[in-house]
Amino acid sequence: MTTVTPSAAWSPWGWLWRTGLAALALAAFFITWRPRQLATWGQAWLVGEPQDTDMLAALQAAPTWAPPPPAAIGIVAGHSGAQGDPGATCPDGTTEAEVNRAVALLVQARLRALGYDAVVLDEFDPRLHGFHGPALVSIHADACLRREDLTGFKVALSAALQRRDDVATLARANRLKACLVEAYRQATGLAYHPYTVTRDMTEYHAFSEIAPDTPAVIIEVGFLGQDYDLLVHRPEVVAQGIVDGLLCFLEGN
Ligand SMILES: [Zn+2]
Repeated sequence: MTTVTPSAAWSPWGWLWRTGLAALALAAFFITWRPRQLATWGQAWLVGEPQDTDMLAALQAAPTWAPPPPAAIGIVAGHSGAQGDPGATCPDGTTEAEVNRAVALLVQARLRALGYDAVVLDEFDPRLHGFHGPALVSIHADACLRREDLTGFKVALSAALQRRDDVATLARANRLKACLVEAYRQATGLAYHPYTVTRDMTEYHAFSEIAPDTPAVIIEVGFLGQDYDLLVHRPEVVAQGIVDGLLCFLEGN
């Protein structure tokens, strides 16, 4: 005896039921399908990227680009921090190191008041290595000797730079020197004393430590002996001469 099972038999009700289910599934797919969403799912699956909202939050939290602040002008307080080497010393105990430091701090304060950043560096400051800035000035003073002819100031730039084939930096260092000489003479009334520029000045250690394109000079602001009154009692005048020279250089006057 054979029986026909109901499932194997074609019936219009069964056909309608299956067609209806298929139509519902297709409708659900087309209602929810978004190409962008598919792409996001794909991306998340491929690289484990966060979902849209997380990405937006990450983008908003990321720092925005800002131009770097201008580099600081370097001011070396000669002999500062150099243990056992205070530089020239007077019979009353006044040292070159303390005079240089007082002037350096005044220069820094005035430059900052004018909107320039300036950093005061020790004689062998580790920050001198590779120092990069618009200018570097090292402040020193000369011997504390009471001798008529030992009065005045001088400015020197690197002898090595003059031998090097770097015309642009040499020109800027020369201009820095010219600006300082003129402004310092005007501010202090001191005469330029060119005959005592020594190798200690032209072969000054910091010249070979700083970034090669940073224009640098060393200034001997006067003799602690004959120019004692200016250097010890009127450091603000000394500082003004240096600041005026730097402004001449930086602002191209
Ligand atoms: Zn010195």
